[in-house]
Amino acid sequence: MKILVDVHTHTVGSGHAYSTITENMKAASEKGLKIMAMTDHAPGIPGAPPRYYFDNLKVIPSEMFGVKLLKGAEANITSYEGDIDLPEDVLEKLDIVLASFHPPCIDFADQETVTEGLIKVMENPYVNVIGHPGDQRYPLDFEKIVLASKRTGTLLEVNNASLKPGSFRVGVKESLAQMLTYCKEHEVPIVLGTDAHFHTEIGELK
Ligand SMILES: [Zn+2]
Ligand SMILES: [Zn+2]
Repeated sequence: MKILVDVHTHTVGSGHAYSTITENMKAASEKGLKIMAMTDHAPGIPGAPPRYYFDNLKVIPSEMFGVKLLKGAEANITSYEGDIDLPEDVLEKLDIVLASFHPPCIDFADQETVTEGLIKVMENPYVNVIGHPGDQRYPLDFEKIVLASKRTGTLLEVNNASLKPGSFRVGVKESLAQMLTYCKEHEVPIVLGTDAHFHTEIGELK
């Protein structure tokens, strides 16, 4: 399978990633990607940039080294009422918005609460992708989530970092097997992201 798009990458702007956007785009070009999304962490993560960082993304070219750049963000889901930590006037200017569960931003909860909360996030018209679903600390009813993806058009990510040995996310391989079985059954497409925090990881989806 030829990988053309990496929907999930971080730069030094995230506060705990170590390459610049120029280094990332160069790496994307060398890997043969056509499109790369820059999705730095939204303000809720310690060390992440303030909203002004996202307001000013216009200074970056939309194409570098023959690769199209989607200027985006990885927002934090901050409640089980569907809240995320970037305001609408920032979200509407971004090319792509991921929304993800991260432990510093939201407590763990039971499957029903997490599933219903995530469906509310998927109904937000500015959210394009759910980042790294499958961490069993945030348990999901995957049939409901896959059907919500089909209905809302919000895509589910298969995240390379979650599947790496040493990942701090729990039970992802088993969850994703379930998610992908429902995706196949209900004919729902998914997206692939590396969640690269260093340029050598861009486009690496092994
Ligand atoms: Zn994340
Ligand atoms: Zn990420």
